[in-house]
Parts: sequence; C-alpha cells; structure tokens
Amino acid sequence: MILYNSASRKREEFVPYDPSLVKMYTCGPTVYHFAHIGNLRSYIMEDILEKYLRYTGYNVKRVMNITDVGHLTSDADEGEDKMLKGARREHKSVLEIAQYYTDAFFDDCAKLNIKTPDVVEPATHCIDDYIRIIQKLMDTGYAYFAGGNVYFDTSKLEKYYVFNDFKEEDLNVGVREGVEEDTNKRNRNDFVLWFTKSKFEDQALKWDSPWGVGYPGWHIECSGISMKHLGENIDIHCGGIDNAFPHHTNEIAQSEAYLGHPWVKYWMHVLHLNTTSGKMSKSSGEFLTVSLLEQKGYDPLAYRFFCLQSHYRKSLVFSWENLDNAQGAYNKLIARVAALNPGDGEFDEAAFHELDQKFRTAMDNDLNSSLAVTALYDVLKAKTNDATKLKAIAAFDTVLGLSLIEKAAARREELKRQQVVAGEFTIISESGEADADVEAKIRARQDAKKAKNFAEADRIRDELKAAGIEVTDIPHGAKWKRI
Ligand SMILES: [Zn+2]
Repeated sequence: MILYNSASRKREEFVPYDPSLVKMYTCGPTVYHFAHIGNLRSYIMEDILEKYLRYTGYNVKRVMNITDVGHLTSDADEGEDKMLKGARREHKSVLEIAQYYTDAFFDDCAKLNIKTPDVVEPATHCIDDYIRIIQKLMDTGYAYFAGGNVYFDTSKLEKYYVFNDFKEEDLNVGVREGVEEDTNKRNRNDFVLWFTKSKFEDQALKWDSPWGVGYPGWHIECSGISMKHLGENIDIHCGGIDNAFPHHTNEIAQSEAYLGHPWVKYWMHVLHLNTTSGKMSKSSGEFLTVSLLEQKGYDPLAYRFFCLQSHYRKSLVFSWENLDNAQGAYNKLIARVAALNPGDGEFDEAAFHELDQKFRTAMDNDLNSSLAVTALYDVLKAKTNDATKLKAIAAFDTVLGLSLIEKAAARREELKRQQVVAGEFTIISESGEADADVEAKIRARQDAKKAKNFAEADRIRDELKAAGIEVTDIPHGAKWKRI
C-alpha cells in the first residue's frame, strides 16, 4: 500500500516496523463540547485506514487519547483552558463535562460506523507517565523550569519543524493579537510540559509533581499515552491537519528527545472540511453536529458516504446541497443493493477476485476512497450473479462502513410489507412509496389485459409513462418506479 507521509512529504510504500502488528495512534477529541462534522471527517478517514489495514490481513492495535485536561484555546499554550470554559458554560464540574462529551463523541462515532479504537485513554489517567518523561527531559537538558512552569527547550533540537518550512522570522507574523506573550519562554516555540503557575485560579484538576502541584501540557499527553500502550515506536500517527503544527511537531520534539531515536514512521493528516464561507469551526457559523444532521432528516451514514467520495488529502466543501446529493445517491445505492437477489447463482470466486482487485488498487493508492466507491458501483454493473455481487459488496463494506447489506436487507423487508396484494396480482413500489392512484391504474391495466382489451392496457401504460411512472411486469404482478 502506498501512503502519503506528511513528514517526508512523499508517497511511500507502507512497511510497518513489525509485520505482525501495525501500531496506530490517533489524537482524540478535547471533550469540552460536541465534535463538529469537520472533526469527524478525520475520524472517518482514519477509521477507513484502520479497517483497510485489517482487510489486507494486518493485525492493528490502535490507541486514542481523550483530552480532559491541559488543552488551552490556542494550541500554543495560550488563552483559556477549554475544559474550564466548557464547565463554566454549562455550570457543571470539569469531570462531568468530560464524561458527558466523551459519551457524546462515541455516540456520534457509532452513528458514523467509526470503530472505537482498541485503547481509549483519558489524559487524566496517565499523569505518572508524563512526569516520568518530563523528569528525563529535565535531566538531559531538553527541558527547563521558569516562572513556575516546565518548558521544552526547542533550541536544543537540530531540527524542530517537521511538517512545514517555517523560518524563525516568519513566526512573528503568526503571533495572535491580544494574546499575552509568555515571557518565561527562552524561545518562541518552547512549549509547556507541566503547568504549576496556572493562569487560572480555579483550575479544577491538579496533581503533585517534582515541580509543584499542577497539571500537564496538552502535547505531552499523546507522547505519554502512546508510549504506555504502543511502546517506543508507532507505525502510523494520525490526526487532522490542524494538529500538524504545533501539536504534532511538539509531540515529535519531546518524544524523540526522550527516546533518543525516531519515533513515528508515517504521519497521516486529514484535510479540513470547509463550508462555503471558509474553514468550519465551533465558533463561527452554524455549529454542525451529527445530531443536527439527524434533526434535519439526514442519515449520518450519508455524511460518511459524502466524505468517502473525496480524497482525505483534499479539503472538502460542505453545503446542505452537497449533503442532499450524497443522501440521494446513498438511498439509490441501497435500493440497487436491495434489488440484488441473494438466491441468484453460486458464489463465483474468479469474478469476486477481479472485483476485489479493483477495490484494493483504489485503496492501495493512498486510500483513494472515491475510486473505492467507484469499484463498489462497478460491482453492481458487473457481469456476474447476484450472490457474488453481494459477497463483494459485503467485503468492501467492512472497510467503507456504509451498512449496505443491513440496510438493503431492511429495505427488502420493507418492500415486502408494502406489496399491495390484489387477488393473485402483486404491485410493488420500487422506491417503497405508497400511491393509491398509481396502484389503481396498474390494477385497471391488469383488468384490461385480462379482458384482452390490449388497446386500453397500452393506453393506461402510456398515461402512467406520461406521468413519469415506469411499470414493469413481473411474475404474478407488476413493479413501478418514478423515472
Ligand atoms: Zn495528539
């Protein structure tokens, strides 16, 4: 499989450190609010990667952190504590907020068919791991204590920037107006490993440490949690593109300084979901959540389908119109799968293999999910029996996660319920909609045929056609659809 590596900025052949187990790490959510669907795009695409690795035969161990402490509103240790902000907004404790939004996050993931990682670790559970890493960084001169906090000294590194070509002088431009500069830092990019002198009097969660009572910085969480569960090397570290700098850059700095060797083999970053007015965020424009999509009548899996139709390294533009189109295409896809007859033919292994190769070629090409969706449509058009087609669709869907087999089976059941039986004659609506007028006309046409009044039968068929209704005769009945 070819995977784009953000660290080398090249497409590379994927070769894990240990072929018997792929170790994967995902930066999890900061649980102070609902995730917006832009954040969830990253989790969908990471889910596809994990499932495809399993599809090709790898064992995968995937770890995700839950940030319930230490993340300030600016990723560069400035601004407010996000968890405190959430707690204040909702008049709850920080731990209540963390639990509530952790549950909400996994509810959203379940609706989007995102598998829960093998290990999910809240940041507050691993304080000793961070302290051990920070202590070694202090002992080896990579960290320093100033003004009550412990900082990582970025000037000790030969190379700090990994994902971008920033130069020192460019950084002044990036300093946000209105944010007080931290004068304790020796270098602009130094970052906090441990806070004791909190800017926030009411910081709820504090722990004892060799540097005083306080709490960890955000970046150290991912290094500590990944090393605890995955050891000294990770094959693939994933995240949204906004995590590349400073978060992932700082993760690499502290982890490699601590370990003394390279840490992550492949970095995978998913690009933004934009709205027509720009980058999606919680604070600007409509706050787009999975619940909002549901309230508006969309299936969350139609959103997953929408995400799959675009490559993860391209930014994707969300609009209600685009989602309408995705929902329409998704419904049609389910109807087409439902129209396949599970009892049609014997499984044809050669035909399956050919279809599967197309799917794998798409996914092996840096997870080209839109081509993988095309491979799925190719199955529907393929010259093989329905049993083989259904096997291929079921196989691909273990990766794509669109619940196609389940939804198609439910639809077949629904269609059966909706069959209108009139004597021996059964009328089936292909879309599942009921229309008494159409059914009455189809029955009148059947009566005319029985009475050998074929002119009248043709007239009724033409009348229906003019009204956009196509009628097809089936044994003991007719089926109809709008065209
Ligand atoms: Zn992280």
